[in-house]
Amino acid sequence: SSARKKLVIGNWKMFKNATSASSDFSDFSNLIASQAHNIEVGIAAPSVFLADLVRKTQNSVTLYAQNSHWAPEGAFTGEVSAPMLKSMGVSGSLVAHSERRQMFGETNETAGARVGALIGAGMKAVLCVGETLEQREKGQLKEILKQQIEKAIQASGIKHASEILGADPLRPLLSIAYEPVWAIGTGKAATSVEAQEAHAFIREVLSNCFNKETSEKLKIIYGGSVKLNNIHEFISCPDVDGGLVGGASLVPKDFYDLCMKCC
Ligand code: PEP
Repeated sequence: SSARKKLVIGNWKMFKNATSASSDFSDFSNLIASQAHNIEVGIAAPSVFLADLVRKTQNSVTLYAQNSHWAPEGAFTGEVSAPMLKSMGVSGSLVAHSERRQMFGETNETAGARVGALIGAGMKAVLCVGETLEQREKGQLKEILKQQIEKAIQASGIKHASEILGADPLRPLLSIAYEPVWAIGTGKAATSVEAQEAHAFIREVLSNCFNKETSEKLKIIYGGSVKLNNIHEFISCPDVDGGLVGGASLVPKDFYDLCMKCC
């Protein structure tokens, strides 16, 4: 629905260094600030760079972490908590990116606990879901998406839709990123028909978890080899509310051009 403001988030993954992160972020936020637009733009940066980047956002770019722990503090060496991120001025975090599910033992339960901690702190959570190629080929797409969302929401402890809607009706605290694993970093994006089918189903699952009205307010963004030349076909789908962009977010001017295709 046109009532949902488009959301585009760049995922820098484990790229850049202190110098390039700083200058690329400045360049990107200057470009975004220079142009009137009606979209919400974010960058999910490695956590070590966030303290520096927070000072450069000019309120034009929302800063996200790429992961955050479910506990507010404690004996969790190497981890970063939602309240820590909040205290620095970071707005939210990605949760359960497929790389974390595949390589770092993320489950639907830990994903849900992270979502619960972020929302509880009044922060944004972008829950990443998506099937592997094997699951798609076995016809398990819907079953996998349903489990990933229902189990995470259950584990989050969120009981009422009001908890995820937050203060600004155009910027709910919870968003979903649909990222088919076979499309991430492969150059083989889903078709817009495949994306729309999955997004419509995800909205149905959200409607069952909360209610129809809430599901229509939540943003479901597509990720998986989004580029300058294919973003438009995705955001033209009625249930695709933006993009989560990996490789194509790394060069500031290129990512800015991509964002402007969403206006
Ligand atoms: C991602 O990092 O979430 C992603 C979708 O990567 P890419 O755009 O490079 O496929």
